[in-house]
Order: sequence, then C-alpha cells, then structure tokens
Amino acid sequence: MDLEDLEKGPGNIDRDIPLDWLGQEMKACEYNVEPTRAHTQMTLNASDQGVLMSGSASVRVKTECGKCLAEMYLDLECPLNSFLMPIEARQELDDRDDELTPQDLKRDWYYNDTIVLDELVRDAIMLELPMNPRCSDSCPGIEMQKLDKNKEDYIDPRLAPLASIKLSKE
Ligand SMILES: [Zn+2]
Repeated sequence: MDLEDLEKGPGNIDRDIPLDWLGQEMKACEYNVEPTRAHTQMTLNASDQGVLMSGSASVRVKTECGKCLAEMYLDLECPLNSFLMPIEARQELDDRDDELTPQDLKRDWYYNDTIVLDELVRDAIMLELPMNPRCSDSCPGIEMQKLDKNKEDYIDPRLAPLASIKLSKE
C-alpha cells in the first residue's frame, strides 16, 4: 500500500487472503499446514510519526495432531497491531532510546513510503501457529500396535516396517 493513499484518510482493508500465496508462505512451518480459509480486516491511520495499523487476520488451517496424527483444523486469530515507521527513523530512535510508540505497540518499519502488507500479515499468522499442534490436551497419542502376539513389546506403528525388517533377520 502506498502512503499517499493514506493521506486522504484512514485506509480500511477487508479482504480474503489468497490461499495459494499463504500456503506457499506456510511451507516455512516445521509441520504440514494447509490454509483453508483466510481473511484480514484492518485499519491504517497515518500520523506525523508513522502509521498505526490495527486489525487482525482470521485463518483456518488443516494440519495433523503431532501426537496421534489425526487430521485436525486450527482456527487462528492473528492480531495485526503495529506502529509502522519509516526506516529512516530507526537510527534516530536507537540513538535516543525513548519511546515514541503509542500504547506500547509493536514497532515495524517500512521503506520508500511503501508498506508491504504481505510480510506483516504473513508474520502475524506464522506467530500464531502453535509449536506442537495437538487434537486435545488429553491426546493419548498413537495407539501402540502389538507387533507380535508372542512378544510383549509394543512398537510405534510408524516404525513397524523397520521393526519387521529387523525381526526377520533374527
Ligand atoms: Zn491427537
């Protein structure tokens, strides 16, 4: 978004986020995650010092439980609250050390009078992805599969093919 547009007044954005773009960006995630719905709504207000961004992105992603591998959906509510300042102001702020940011907002930077919303939205969404998705707090995990009725050993089914190779060599 060009800053000139904001000089006319607050900018309101209310639109779907393209799923193919988001899916591509989400490949940076450590587990499989596929967005199935994504929408963002925000207001941008220009002031002398920068641009106040407030809003959120609502995203639904398909993934799997890291423990039992069940397919599951996550609904992410990603806050987009930042105070955006021109990058030229950064050095000045570092030198002075005082807080210009209203309401202790997160501070971001823009270059050449252009705010790249893609990156801000992507980062906000990635931040809300859990480290380890779980279908529930009490997920029992993968049910252990009895490999051999004569043995008491239980083996993670994901390792079963390896286990059978090993056993057949004995
Ligand atoms: Zn689970």
